Amino acid sequence: MNLNFNLDLAEGYKSNSQITRVLTENWVKVNSYCPNCGQLPLNDFENNMPVADFYCLECKEEFELKSKNGKLSTIINDGAYESMIKRITSDTNPNFFFLTYDNNKVNNFLVIPKQFFTPEIIIKRKPLSITAKRAGWVGCNIDISKVPENGRIFIVENSRIIEQEKVHLKLKSTDF
Ligand SMILES: [Zn+2]
Repeated sequence: MNLNFNLDLAEGYKSNSQITRVLTENWVKVNSYCPNCGQLPLNDFENNMPVADFYCLECKEEFELKSKNGKLSTIINDGAYESMIKRITSDTNPNFFFLTYDNNKVNNFLVIPKQFFTPEIIIKRKPLSITAKRAGWVGCNIDISKVPENGRIFIVENSRIIEQEKVHLKLKSTDF
């Protein structure tokens, strides 16, 4: 596992959010294994499909990626509240990967199994004010401090790569 992003892939992109998406998704695809069964690499879905970001061909688990520049915090900004709740309460609710990076290098990468991803950890934000471009839109925050310690399974922690066997055992102990 190499913790550096492949910066060559950022060429040709102008928007920072697009660059982040390309670099983080590529990093997971190239470097991560499926925490459930160990399969490498994780197949990514076609772009723009309304489904998860990664899919394991072996065990069929789905993973959605959230990433953030900087330190791992307990509150993570996310998109629309309603669609998030719909997604995590559906029959095809995914597992979540969280990735934090600094200077184009991964410092934390963890998986939160889907059974820990409940509506209780999704915090509704205030609707945008009437002067905003998207007035009335309601976003959400993800509060991972509400996920029990055994539901936060690190694959990389503070720039240290955790042994795959340990990741697998911890995941199995959650009745994945
Ligand atoms: Zn798998």
